[in-house]
Amino acid sequence: MIDVLAVASEYYPLVKTGGLADVTGALPAALKPHGIATRTLLPGYPKVMQHLVTPAILHDFADLFGGPARLLASGDLIVLDAPHLYGRDGNPYLGPDGRDWPDNWRRFAALGLAAGELGCGGVGDYKPRIVHAHDWQAALAPVYLRFWQGPAKSVLTIHNLAFQGQFPSKIFAELRLPPSAFAIDGVEYYGAVGFLKGGLASADAITTVSPTYAAEIATPQQGMGLDGMIRARRSAVTGIVNGIDTDIWNPATDMALTERYTARRLELRQANKHAVEQRFGLDRDDGPLFCVISRLTWQKGMDILADTLDSLVAHGARLALLGSGEAWLEQAFAAAAQRHRGRIGVIAAYDESLSHLVQGGSDAILIPSRFEPCGLTQLYGLRYGCVPVVAQTGGLADTIIDANDAAISAGVASGLHFAPADAGALENAISRAVALYREPKLWTQMQRMGMKMDVSWQKSAARYAALYRRLIG
Ligand code: ADP
Repeated sequence: MIDVLAVASEYYPLVKTGGLADVTGALPAALKPHGIATRTLLPGYPKVMQHLVTPAILHDFADLFGGPARLLASGDLIVLDAPHLYGRDGNPYLGPDGRDWPDNWRRFAALGLAAGELGCGGVGDYKPRIVHAHDWQAALAPVYLRFWQGPAKSVLTIHNLAFQGQFPSKIFAELRLPPSAFAIDGVEYYGAVGFLKGGLASADAITTVSPTYAAEIATPQQGMGLDGMIRARRSAVTGIVNGIDTDIWNPATDMALTERYTARRLELRQANKHAVEQRFGLDRDDGPLFCVISRLTWQKGMDILADTLDSLVAHGARLALLGSGEAWLEQAFAAAAQRHRGRIGVIAAYDESLSHLVQGGSDAILIPSRFEPCGLTQLYGLRYGCVPVVAQTGGLADTIIDANDAAISAGVASGLHFAPADAGALENAISRAVALYREPKLWTQMQRMGMKMDVSWQKSAARYAALYRRLIG
């Protein structure tokens, strides 16, 4: 077995704000058959600490960015217990005022530093061969490994380049890195400190979560200021599409559903559809029911969606929207629900179990993202026979086969694409979807095609395992 230390700020089911948690929660089990033993280093948020059963103390830090800290081991988790950094309830990144915690740089520098310590072999007899850091919160891990000359190889996975972890240069002095690390091929970023930038400069391998996104982030239009860095490291960058946990997301066994079903018994979805109609206060009719399950943000194209709702209703369709996020978007959707009572239903919440029911009862899921590194909700949609209607970008483009005439006649269509991500194109896609829905044979064929696709971790886990093996030679 090859020992891999995964480092992340989220891990399903203990702490989740988005797809990152689903990935770090599911990948270890998928890697095991490939001879990879993963342990995951997580910050000791209260929810994580409560989960630990008789943890072993692996390491003590007398002072880790302003207070004592310990590394605790429990099962496959290694938890950084640092109450002065993580002993706060609620969102892992934001305070009760909805703003970033002012000491986020310390909170996530500590995570990277602890990973560096582990990767340098300085913690008992645990000596991981690979340290696999996820996103900016873990991105200093490869930096510590490089500048402390640890023996472990490092992988950095970008789940979203929009979040980069940039902080004023004055924090550098406290990072315990040599002065040479504050340089253009280190953490220095336009005179400030960039965590993700440093990780990209330092990691032995960089992955992102779809091949299309890997190409997109090398362009000035979508590189978010880091495209030069991505291009400079092009030979180290690969795109590996995320899988999903097909045990948790299985319509045949899912207890969050009113009725369980398989691709052969799609008529059973009707009971779930009625349950969704009831939960969202929607009329009952035999027209299509669209859904959205999303963070309500600009990235997700939620303002574009808000602009198309009158047209969606005019097409005789209905919408169930489950989402939480920015207040102006929540208000726009609440207003649309008022305007179109019975046609648009909105639940402004984050509700994991309801998200399963919505996938199991809606006919199609709308995903108008302006950019989407991978996206998971379209994969859940495929698995649940909830046809994805997606903007043609990033992982959405890579995982959904558009229902154009050729794909329909070949029987391979699994959803609909539209481009660009704007209201006109989305309206067009909604109108195409409504027309397809009115041809039940075609629609069912599309649902079955999606349900047949392999959206598990199997293939992608093999790719990560091959990457690890290549790195350790
Ligand atoms: P991102 O990580 O950018 O938010 P992904 O599509 O990769 O987007 O992952 C989003 C994850 O969060 C999915 O598991 C999705 O089901 C879940 N999710 C998003 N919004 C909600 C919500 N309001 N309620 C429940 N689950 C949600």
